[in-house]
Amino acid sequence: MRGKKVVLAGVGHAHLYSLARIGSFSRYDVHVDVIAPGPFNYSGMGPGILSGQYNEGDNSLDVSKMVGSRGGRLITDKVEVIDAEERTLKTSGGETIKYDVLSLNIGSEVAPLADHKGQIPVFPVKPIHNFIKMRNHLLNALPGSAPRIVVAGGGPAGCEAAANALSLCLRKGYRPMIKIVTGRSGLLPGLPEKAGRIIAEWFRKNGIAVETGIRVIGSDGRFVLFGDGSRQEADMIIIATGVHPPELLEGSGFSISRDGALVVDEHLESVSHKGVFGGGDCIYFKPCPLDRVGVYAVRQGPVLFNNLIASITGRQPRLFRPQKKYLLILNLGDGTGLLSRGKVAVAGRIPLLIKNWLDRRFIRKYRPLK
Ligand SMILES: Cc1cc2nc3c(=O)[nH]c(=O)nc-3n(C[C@H](O)[C@H](O)[C@H](O)COP(=O)(O)OP(=O)(O)OC[C@H]3O[C@@H](n4cnc5c(N)ncnc54)[C@H](O)[C@@H]3O)c2cc1C
Repeated sequence: MRGKKVVLAGVGHAHLYSLARIGSFSRYDVHVDVIAPGPFNYSGMGPGILSGQYNEGDNSLDVSKMVGSRGGRLITDKVEVIDAEERTLKTSGGETIKYDVLSLNIGSEVAPLADHKGQIPVFPVKPIHNFIKMRNHLLNALPGSAPRIVVAGGGPAGCEAAANALSLCLRKGYRPMIKIVTGRSGLLPGLPEKAGRIIAEWFRKNGIAVETGIRVIGSDGRFVLFGDGSRQEADMIIIATGVHPPELLEGSGFSISRDGALVVDEHLESVSHKGVFGGGDCIYFKPCPLDRVGVYAVRQGPVLFNNLIASITGRQPRLFRPQKKYLLILNLGDGTGLLSRGKVAVAGRIPLLIKNWLDRRFIRKYRPLK
């Protein structure tokens, strides 16, 4: 492998571990190129940035400092095309990069509104940087008003976005009207039923309207359009209708899942192409499909690093063994959190204290490398 090239495409939760150890690759005389369009943004703290619990930048890491100080080369750009047979990537800026070993961690996106003809600003919950945009929009474009906010999607991200938008508005003395619109699955599908009941009661007490069984399909002028034919005037739409991998992998030649994720085996290696790995939201873990949560992406980090080195040295790769239950804590923006793990769901101040401690600890772990 001497003189060969490892490419890390995207810097999400799953690549941080390798980034912090980029120097290890040079021991094997291997060059590392990292392709990232901007800083790393930690998702768990995104909603807290909207409410003002955290400041802009509290959840970010400067990728250029992390890569440059450790002997890697950073290309500040996006991957636009991948050719699995040629083993090349092309960036949006037109650079073609050949790889011997590739690791993909390009995250996921929210599908845009199908029919957006209106003037209402739309904010998908991904990329996470959008939480700063939502905050700025509420503070600068709609200052002192009674903003009408429609949140499409009642999963964890939609619930956190609604709760933290409310918190910001109340602190600023606004009188917001917030409505969450969810499909038939209701609030927090996939989490314990009790979590759905807790959040429904929290929304009721805090004056957030919930409408179940309809979908936001688009906008027209100042109106949000719903699937049942109704419409409503609004000043802002937040979309949290679930995520899918970027379209980039379609047409790459890799084996991909129905929703366009890289299909990987128990070593996080592509089932169709040796020497191609992936982690986080952009993969489909063939041994058992996983929820798209940061917990898995973070835990895949060490396995990815080990297996990238293993593919250079010919050593035995490591297995990724996902945990069955994982901890999720939603930030409700009022100093409380909603914790769920397995069948357990509980809300209060302690869950948020735990979340804040875990999230800050995660960022601190990588920050000294900045
Ligand atoms: C509001 C919100 C809150 C969340 N809170 C939690 C939580 O508390 N706990 C939890 O477990 N999960 C949480 N999640 C889920 C979590 O965000 C994702 O599962 C996690 O971000 C996945 O990490 P990743 O490493 O796959 O990608 P990401 O961390 O999203 O990173 C992907 C990176 O790839 C880059 N990229 C994209 N396209 C390209 C390209 N073409 N070329 C190069 N780079 C590219 C992006 O810029 C980005 O930096 C939350 C999600 C949201 C939306």
